[in-house]
Amino acid sequence: MPRFDDAGGILTIDLGAIIRNYEALRERAPGAEVAAVVKADAYGLGMAEVARALEAAGCRTFYVATVDEGAELRRVLPTAEIAVFNGVLAGSEMDFAEHRLIPVLNDLGQIDRWAAFARGWDEMPAILHVDTGMNRLGLPPHEAEALAAMPERLDGMRVRCVISHLACADDPEAEMNRRQLDLFRAITARLPRRPRGLAASGGIFLGPEYHFDQVRPGIALYGVAPDPGRPNPMAPVVHLAGRILQVRDVDSPMAVGYGATHRVTRPSRIATVAVGYADGYVRSLSNQGRCFIGDVPVPVVGRVSMDSITLDVSGVAETEALPGMTVEVIGPHRPVDDLAREAGTIGYEILTGLGRRFFRRYVGGPA
Ligand SMILES: *Cc1c(COP(=O)(O)O)cnc(C)c1O
Repeated sequence: MPRFDDAGGILTIDLGAIIRNYEALRERAPGAEVAAVVKADAYGLGMAEVARALEAAGCRTFYVATVDEGAELRRVLPTAEIAVFNGVLAGSEMDFAEHRLIPVLNDLGQIDRWAAFARGWDEMPAILHVDTGMNRLGLPPHEAEALAAMPERLDGMRVRCVISHLACADDPEAEMNRRQLDLFRAITARLPRRPRGLAASGGIFLGPEYHFDQVRPGIALYGVAPDPGRPNPMAPVVHLAGRILQVRDVDSPMAVGYGATHRVTRPSRIATVAVGYADGYVRSLSNQGRCFIGDVPVPVVGRVSMDSITLDVSGVAETEALPGMTVEVIGPHRPVDDLAREAGTIGYEILTGLGRRFFRRYVGGPA
């Protein structure tokens, strides 16, 4: 990590806000366990720091995507339950046992593999994932049917939870939510009775019928709107300040940046800020994005470069935009959701793309 003074970007992650979001979700789903999804380095925010804060807030179950992520999390949380969405691939059984990870079993092949391995042990834990329409991971309906007819295929394992995943939970109007809910009920009614979980962040806000026994939010913990069409109920977590490297005066007929896509039409001041697409400021924000200096929007002019962007700072006093000072790239004036919309993507992609060159600091964490 760079020193603060050398850093082109200063990324502040508010662990206190993550904890408040965790507690707010717990209030939303009072009857359910709230597990936390911390895959992809906790959506780019730092798995170790985030998971420690969540554990201190009372979280006991964590989901990651890969065995590697699980092994890394195990070093941080010696006693938590850690489940792996990708499930158990041939040859990785011992890794699950060694790091005490729980596979999310996604098809009959994974079930039989884990059952065969579990026979040598004393009750290995597992989570079953049934597909209700996502067609990505999880037992397809005919495999769930086969399992219902032969539940002894689960012998030797302790099924902690049966889960499914909603395809359209970020849209409360989508009919598909109800269809998946009905199918989930029908499938789980024919399987051995275990705790159930359907809702990720969006699903929690679809109402109590979607909560079952466990919910497993990711993005809402990190302050991004679970339903981008409505006001965001979550506390913001991420602040990104970009460092001004240089400021110059330009006038017509000059141009700014690669491809000379921004033609200068009047006397302007341009600040070059050390955050580029290699830092996750995606290139589709060229001539689209906005940063802030105080309350004043300063538009991105010209293309986003690998290491920098150029901003038109003509609207702020010269003394407010000097080399060494910073601009707000993500923050109260520029929430992640707004940046994502301008970039033509979603908050998930912005967070997970946040670069590794920033000076990172964590605030508001547990004592
Ligand atoms: C990533 C993921 C989640 C978390 O989803 P969010 O929308 O970030 O809350 C939950 N369940 C599964 C299966 C996932 O892949």
